[in-house]
Amino acid sequence: MKIFNTLSRTKEEFVPLEPGKVRMYVCGPTVYNYIHIGNARPMIVFDTVRRYFEYKGYDVNYVSNFTDVDDKIIKKAIEEGVDSDAISTRYIAECRKDMEAMNVKPATTHPQATQEIQGMLEMIQTLIDKGHAYVADDGTVYFRTKSFRDYGKLSHKNLDELQSGFREIKVTGEEGKEEPSDFVLWKPKKEGEPFWESDWCEGRPGWHIECSVMSKKYLGEQIDIHAGGEDLIFPHHENEIAQSEAANGKPFATYWMHNAFLNIDNKKMSKSLGNFFTVREISEKYDLQVLRFFMLSAHYRSPLNFSGELMESSRSGLDRIITAVERLTDAGVKASGEVLRDEEKENHETAMGLVAKYEAAMEDDFNTADAISAVFELVKLANATAAEESSRAYVDFMKTTIVKLCDVLGILTERKKEALNEDIESMIAARQQARKEKNFALADQIRKQLLDMGIVLEDTREGVKWKRA
Ligand code: AMP
Ligand code: ZN
Repeated sequence: MKIFNTLSRTKEEFVPLEPGKVRMYVCGPTVYNYIHIGNARPMIVFDTVRRYFEYKGYDVNYVSNFTDVDDKIIKKAIEEGVDSDAISTRYIAECRKDMEAMNVKPATTHPQATQEIQGMLEMIQTLIDKGHAYVADDGTVYFRTKSFRDYGKLSHKNLDELQSGFREIKVTGEEGKEEPSDFVLWKPKKEGEPFWESDWCEGRPGWHIECSVMSKKYLGEQIDIHAGGEDLIFPHHENEIAQSEAANGKPFATYWMHNAFLNIDNKKMSKSLGNFFTVREISEKYDLQVLRFFMLSAHYRSPLNFSGELMESSRSGLDRIITAVERLTDAGVKASGEVLRDEEKENHETAMGLVAKYEAAMEDDFNTADAISAVFELVKLANATAAEESSRAYVDFMKTTIVKLCDVLGILTERKKEALNEDIESMIAARQQARKEKNFALADQIRKQLLDMGIVLEDTREGVKWKRA
């Protein structure tokens, strides 16, 4: 299995620290609002990475944090006149709902920064004791970047160049730094902010220390994979490496994986441009399975552009797969024969070849776009060759194979009933009633109304079936 490692900027063979096990840490969201569709990208991508490892038989310990102490949370709490805790608790609950709707599995552990302060105090003290950190006059604790020889190795930056770049930017309150590239581990509280006691001042942690501490506590000093969006490479992940490796005296993560950004209509997503969507807003228009399918239709290291058009094409792609699975379920009920027929063996071989193609794509740095193409080829083969007349062995094999490969991508192959809103359902019932009363003109009128709404009806022996046009 090959993984593109940001550290080496090459694809490397995956070799776990412990055979059969994967320890991975994915930086999670700051919880001050509903998550946006950009945040959904790393969630979906790395959940898929996890699922693929599990499919290959690995035992995956997957940790993803919630950052619940941060300027944006404090600002929102002040605006609403509530505690920061009330804000973070509310949005963690909402985030979990969105994750479930996107079929993102809960992590093995979802630690929260505010619950891990003790560990942070200990790691900061270790860094001070080892000369990697210092306390400024106002009680701020800074990491001494000059003391860590490898600083810059992840982002491929040179410390001297960084210093001159940083010298231009003066941050108020950070005058006590020895060098411009040094960063905050602990800072004094400001009026109205949450704070904790420490040996240096009453205050709160800097952003980066939480991940070093939580990763160590839940996964150990060395882990296999550390991941997040590409904006985190610098400074967040660079600083995490400095903290963890300086404190533990060991390499931190073997592989660093970063997803590219999601843009909207080819522009950076931003509130001020008015092109900013939360996952919750998207869920009002689309089943979030469509969002997941859309996210996986591109390689995770390619920028991805979100547009209504692309979402529609994901919707119809997903529908094609679901319709094929439904057909196979129906055909399976009527088909008979528990062994493959001679004439089916070649198609069975072709299907096995497509499974191999899917696996090869996933093992080439998780190329989900090519993996989905292999699923479409399987769907095409199933549509052309598996029918009521086939052996049940063949029909069932085609169905379980498609369902399994979709499941590894976290794509559900059952049509969601709730995607039909109540109005449509009652219209279908009214049409049935009209037909019963032999009022075919009314029945046809309702069918046309549904068609105008993008719903196609199919009368089958088992009753009325529908799909989106
Ligand atoms: P944040 O809440 O900003 O710390 O972000 C949580 C995660 O979402 C991080 O891994 C970010 O890199 C990622 N992220 C934020 N915005 C985007 C975006 N537009 N596209 C892809 N990933 C993003
Ligand atoms: Zn992090």
